[in-house]
Amino acid sequence: MKRIYLDYAATAPLRETARQAWIEASGALNPGGQYGSGRAANALLSEARETIAECLDCEPIEVIFCGSGTEADNLAVAGFAQAQPELPVASSPIEHPAVREVVARHECEYFTVSPGGAVDEDSIRSVLSTSHSVATMMLANNETGVVQPVETLVDAAAAVDTPVHVDAVQAVGHIHVSFRALGAHTLAASAHKFGGPRGVGLLLARRSPVPQPILCGGGQQRGIRPGTVDVAGAVATAAALREACAEMSVEKQRLEDVRERLRSGLRGSIDNVLMHGEGQQLLPGHLHFSVPGAEGDSLIMLADSAGIECATGSACAAGVNRASEVLLAMGVSEADARSAVRMTLGRTTCEEDIARVVEEFPRIVEMARVAGMC
Ligand code: PLP
Repeated sequence: MKRIYLDYAATAPLRETARQAWIEASGALNPGGQYGSGRAANALLSEARETIAECLDCEPIEVIFCGSGTEADNLAVAGFAQAQPELPVASSPIEHPAVREVVARHECEYFTVSPGGAVDEDSIRSVLSTSHSVATMMLANNETGVVQPVETLVDAAAAVDTPVHVDAVQAVGHIHVSFRALGAHTLAASAHKFGGPRGVGLLLARRSPVPQPILCGGGQQRGIRPGTVDVAGAVATAAALREACAEMSVEKQRLEDVRERLRSGLRGSIDNVLMHGEGQQLLPGHLHFSVPGAEGDSLIMLADSAGIECATGSACAAGVNRASEVLLAMGVSEADARSAVRMTLGRTTCEEDIARVVEEFPRIVEMARVAGMC
């Protein structure tokens, strides 16, 4: 039985171009070395920076490699918050834990969220009527896929001289992102979300203002992320991003079509299914829904035994199924928030996969509903 992978938002399979690029660059030595092999490694690193800068419309010097999207978010949010500790942070309640948990260490004022899953623009303007140490929001939500009103955030923050960090981990490689046009001061991305290697994050950081360094070390990468840079990881990330951007418009349309067929297939075959974020601007591969009366964990375990790999979408703590904070912030009831399933589609997803999911899911739902809620 072919297994169907529908958890692209968690991580995407490594692209072949990225694997080859990684292998070719895997012998690179210290790019900071003042000798031949160092210069050779640095040339590969510079080329990777230029490719990424071209894809994300920024300057090569603004590209900082780090170990994950989580690290990029932490360096930016903690670094800005620490630079002006007397001011509160401004953020949304639907951020990924990589932002949410950093924000929670500081005094924070929160925007509100609409039932559709987008951060409310009036609440952004209202919170940002005064200065904050940093205003941080995601470009697209990892659970619902809803694209967020980042332009409003940037405009409101500029009026009160507040630096902006954008968590674009889910968006980069899937929808067009221009760092220049966005106008944020820092932006986080993660290579494994677009077919690059796991363990490589990207932090884009304007020349000024920059977050205060969180890590201490040898001063590499403008001192924002010191440490010897992983050249092979950087080169593989650039190769993956170049390919993702080259195929983006065609792939976006294809995935949206397939995703909508999946949505209507599930809606037609399962009664009382709640679609989240419907009608909003969505990432192309995201479908997030609740099946009232069934536990999300039961649904994904039963799906797994039918060869379908999907997720509840929310992080569970120590194996305990908790209601998604994102759905709760959208006003979804606790029970329905615990009944959520996230299917995220990507390059390998085809029509046959969707047909099988639509065929199998009613039986999975029936069994999960019999098991009920615990
Ligand atoms: N931010 C968002 C919106 C995410 O979806 C994720 C990962 O799922 C992260 C940050 C963290 O990225 P990483 O897994 O590279 O640490």
